Amino acid sequence: MNIALVAHDNCKKDLVRWAREHVRELKGHRLICTGTTGRLVREALHDLLGDESPSTPVECLKSGPLGGDLQMGSRIAEGQIDVLIFFWDPMQAQPHDVDVKALLRISNLYNIPTACNVATANCLVSSPALGERPGSTYDFSEYTERHLD
Ligand code: PGA
Repeated sequence: MNIALVAHDNCKKDLVRWAREHVRELKGHRLICTGTTGRLVREALHDLLGDESPSTPVECLKSGPLGGDLQMGSRIAEGQIDVLIFFWDPMQAQPHDVDVKALLRISNLYNIPTACNVATANCLVSSPALGERPGSTYDFSEYTERHLD
């Protein structure tokens, strides 16, 4: 699976702790992260997995405020993300708030299992449905084939 991980600064400790606690579930999957989140997750996994860490590659996109959230949204639109773990900060405004909103919108549009807090992330990784690709529930053809006259 391609698992996307993103955390705002005040939530990064929670995400790294969560990744450490769930290293067994994450192992063997491909992790796609925004820049700073990815660096921290990579360090944590390397710490825990040592020589085995290459089996769980961590791809770092740009940092969120520098376009990383938009890159992640683009991966979703291209069908390259199976799960999104996105710990966004409910207590602090972000300079890239519109990008955050865009990422959440596109993950919803494509029906990507998305966890925005630790409790939901725990449910997601232990779900038997994890890895299913349900596809979007929206009928895109109604939109793409619309008449504009
Ligand atoms: P970061 O980006 O992982 O590069 O900090 C996360 C975000 O703010 O969206």
